[in-house]
Amino acid sequence: MGKPRILVIGSSNTDMIMTLDRIPRPGETILGAEFVTAAGGKGANQAVAAARAGGDVRFVARVGRDMFGEKAVARFVEEGINVEYVVRDNTAPSGVALIFLAKDGENSIAVAGGANGRLSPADVKKAARAIAGAHTVLMQLETPLKAVQAAAELAAQAKVPVILNPAPARPLPAKLLKLVSILTPNETESELLTGIAVTDKNSAARAAEKLRATGVETVILTLGARGVFVATASTREMVPGFRVKAVDTTGAGDVFNGALAVALGDGRPLLEAARFANAAAAISVTRLGAQPSAPKRKEIELLLARTKSKRMIAQQTGKQLTQKRQSTQRRQEARTQGTGRR
Ligand code: ADP
Repeated sequence: MGKPRILVIGSSNTDMIMTLDRIPRPGETILGAEFVTAAGGKGANQAVAAARAGGDVRFVARVGRDMFGEKAVARFVEEGINVEYVVRDNTAPSGVALIFLAKDGENSIAVAGGANGRLSPADVKKAARAIAGAHTVLMQLETPLKAVQAAAELAAQAKVPVILNPAPARPLPAKLLKLVSILTPNETESELLTGIAVTDKNSAARAAEKLRATGVETVILTLGARGVFVATASTREMVPGFRVKAVDTTGAGDVFNGALAVALGDGRPLLEAARFANAAAAISVTRLGAQPSAPKRKEIELLLARTKSKRMIAQQTGKQLTQKRQSTQRRQEARTQGTGRR
């Protein structure tokens, strides 16, 4: 079977991160900061995660005609992502995020979306054939809603399922929600969309039902280390996360969404696809960064196979113990009966 074709539409940013003792106050200059850049943007993160998880990925995005845009596109190509629909904007610069990271963990972030904010329905329509030929279309909300709507309409016409990761959270129109096959909010986004705080399985079920009532077919609530809650017309189930030592959870949701799109494109049933995506996201939180931490397909499969064999050993050990207990009991009974006869 060929690789599943995943079409990702969304943002590309360059994160400029300064680590310093504390966040500078207005008017203040602080020396001694350390500086790194990191590729970011939810669209780009999800495209990279999908490519590494085994997808044949096309990315629809806008970058500026500047060093950051060129570097971002070169990285997509390195990851094997098709960039035919990455438009170079003639006027706006590439998206950047300036991040101050204090040593006590506090941060202060400003984002200049630049070219991301100019991704248009016309850009999306140019990719109409690629949308129609995709197994799955994957989108988020860091690019204009008009473009997201146009893509959802094209996908619906071609009967291609749409995964919408509603991040960053914002209210969504009914005409978009009814075209979404799978909505994947995290707890904060789900609360913003439904007004229901997700604290346990019951509240997750209530929030998911409220979202499904808007016309979304399937809701997958991501619940951090706990995994996900999956709700369809016939299923309401927790798919637990993998227990790992988390180092940096930045971009966990992006890796989850990228891997989910691939697993569904592979033809895996929904709950199995959610497990695959949980595994991918769990591996990513054991490493630093968003894009660099996305695992390759082999690593995901290895984690799935390892936990499967552990589960089987646990089941077998359980069975052996039960058998041992039963035979001891039988021997004791036989002995008691024997004593009785004597
Ligand atoms: P977001 O990153 O969008 O806030 P979540 O925090 O819900 O989203 O994380 C997305 C997914 O990443 C979870 O559903 C889970 O599969 C995985 N994940 C996140 N944090 C952890 C963790 N500490 N351990 C294992 N898996 C995690």
